[in-house]
Amino acid sequence: MSTSLGLLKSIVGEERVVDDKVSLLCYSSDMSPFAYTPDAVVLPRSREDVVEVVKYANESRTPIIPRGAGTSVTGAILPRRGGVVLDFTRMSSIKEVRVEDLVAVVEPGVVLDRLNAELAKHGLFFPPDPGSSSACTIGGMVGTNASGVRAAKYGTTRNWVLGLEVVLASGEVVRTGWPVVKHSTGYDLTQLFIGSEGTLGVVTEAVLKLAPIPPYKVTVTVFFDELGLAGRAVTAILLSGVRPAAMELLDRTCLSVVNEVFKLGLPSREGFIVLELDGTRGSVEEEMRKVKGVADRLGAKDYSWTDDPKESLKLWAARKALVPALAKVKEGHVLVPLAEDPSFPISEIEGAIRDFQALSAKYGLTTATFGHAADGNLHPVMIVDPADPDQWGRMLKMEEEIFEIVLRRRGALSAEHGIGLSKSPFARRALGGGLEVMRSLKRALDPNGILNPGKMGLDVESREDPVNLYYAYLSRLRGELQALRRAYEAVRCFRCGFCRAVCPTFNHYFVESKGARGRVVLSYYFLGGLVEASEALRQAYDQCTLCGHCVQVCPPGVKVVDIVEQVRRDLAAKGFISPVHRALGENILKYGNIYGLDNAARGELAKELRGG
Ligand SMILES: Cc1cc2nc3c(=O)[nH]c(=O)nc-3n(C[C@H](O)[C@H](O)[C@H](O)COP(=O)(O)OP(=O)(O)OC[C@H]3O[C@@H](n4cnc5c(N)ncnc54)[C@H](O)[C@@H]3O)c2cc1C
Ligand code: SF4
Ligand code: SF4
Repeated sequence: MSTSLGLLKSIVGEERVVDDKVSLLCYSSDMSPFAYTPDAVVLPRSREDVVEVVKYANESRTPIIPRGAGTSVTGAILPRRGGVVLDFTRMSSIKEVRVEDLVAVVEPGVVLDRLNAELAKHGLFFPPDPGSSSACTIGGMVGTNASGVRAAKYGTTRNWVLGLEVVLASGEVVRTGWPVVKHSTGYDLTQLFIGSEGTLGVVTEAVLKLAPIPPYKVTVTVFFDELGLAGRAVTAILLSGVRPAAMELLDRTCLSVVNEVFKLGLPSREGFIVLELDGTRGSVEEEMRKVKGVADRLGAKDYSWTDDPKESLKLWAARKALVPALAKVKEGHVLVPLAEDPSFPISEIEGAIRDFQALSAKYGLTTATFGHAADGNLHPVMIVDPADPDQWGRMLKMEEEIFEIVLRRRGALSAEHGIGLSKSPFARRALGGGLEVMRSLKRALDPNGILNPGKMGLDVESREDPVNLYYAYLSRLRGELQALRRAYEAVRCFRCGFCRAVCPTFNHYFVESKGARGRVVLSYYFLGGLVEASEALRQAYDQCTLCGHCVQVCPPGVKVVDIVEQVRRDLAAKGFISPVHRALGENILKYGNIYGLDNAARGELAKELRGG
């Protein structure tokens, strides 16, 4: 791809094209168990950049993979057919907040928490609320139709996007929608692009609908001695007419992780529900009475509530960090998100939970169940040793059975994370004839198949490719105990991207290899022999300031600073050391100090500097 790389650089400027192997490897993974490396990454700054890159890609039949913060769970951002990743990190401005219209116009790379912090100054918010809000971008949310704890009351991203600016595969720019609450003006193209996972067009601007921040909120916690009872309570609360802004269900495994990692001291029971009720004080108190009524009827334990924002925030922050924190459940095990986010009709929630528990016992795997229960979205997750073929095999069988439960109980394959790569083999069963309709739409809009190929079952329904498992390198280290231990520490990193917001070097360069997540991923590849010691690798590690900010926000507590120091030592042992450190080291060896002067001369110098 070298001649075409030259062309790409001439289009957007050399400094906005990443093409060295070390950096590219940092774009090879997401939370899914798969890995594919791009040929190049482009960091566009404007719609014009995107148009030119897409035109180039269409002419040269090069795959284009749009990417926000890379918090995808399904492999949706992985360059399965190689090609160019379009990383929107640098296109992140909030162009306009029209308070009187309840509308904001933003670039796709804006991070959700940053947007909401800005909107809060006007008493407004953008309601969809994925657990990844500190990292995920509006472009990525549009791509997956993301939602989160607030979906039951406020809906999903598609309910809050009024219009889009989209670059089509031909390079043509179209605007969809209007900044109005309703319209009946032709096909709803905005909705077509939402949830299309970058396979139909590249979003360069979004017009968002906003809501006023509700005046009063409470957080209610309810515990049960059986998980099934907690499931029944969810249904009963919804049928009682309560519309919780959020209602999350956690099993005992999740509860103990939340307790251990976030020191919340919650009672340890089989089932736990946490609700947020919002509105006016009167409406919230009325809803609380109904929730309490259901809790009493079903024999709930330890019912409590708070309207203290700080207490509530602690609970919700812990809930948001639950997924990556699950990496702590079992040493040497990782959470593998396959079949991880189905949704069910309300009446099936309790039954689905019981089915998952039975499956977990049948396959003897460590599992955890939690979910945005108010909208029927459950997350049955499997936690396995990725280097153990027997566990891996059982996990794949359990995945099949989870999808059978989903279909039998009239559920949807994915409630929020999308199909991506990992659910491609199940797309036909879930969509039936709808898959062919989707394929015709894809052909009409992207005849050359350049936009995010290999996803959603659109062009290929299998997910089998040679060497496409992120965890494959662990088995290479069998017998090398020290290296294996270090590699397991690195794969505790979920690639959740929470550290992106706080890593000073990432926020200077905006390139993954200069951030905490990239450094952890690289350390794993380095140990596994995929990348060798080199000057580029040294620079990725030397630029780390060892500030430890990443560790502060890292839910599984990956020891990033230790990882960086260890790799630096390995690289130094192989002769890759920064010129400054080399000179300092030589001075120490020669003079016993870092200054390159013998100690007597330094004493004289000190006197001189003190003025005599
Ligand atoms: C810890 C954790 C918790 C999570 N919790 C939730 C949750 O509660 N709810 C939920 O819905 N999801 C959740 N997710 C999944 C993920 O965060 C969401 O899907 C999120 O919206 C992805 O945003 P992103 O910016 O990281 O996008 P990416 O992962 O980079 O991309 C996601 C998809 O959008 C496409 N895309 C990105 N930008 C554009 C663009 N400009 N134009 C066209 N397509 C584009 C990509 O090609 C890809 O298909 C979670 C993930 C993690 C790691
Ligand atoms: S310790 Fe290094 S990787 Fe972590 S936040 Fe600081 S600079 Fe980034
Ligand atoms: S280092 Fe921690 S915060 Fe950063 S991506 Fe990995 S798990 Fe997430």
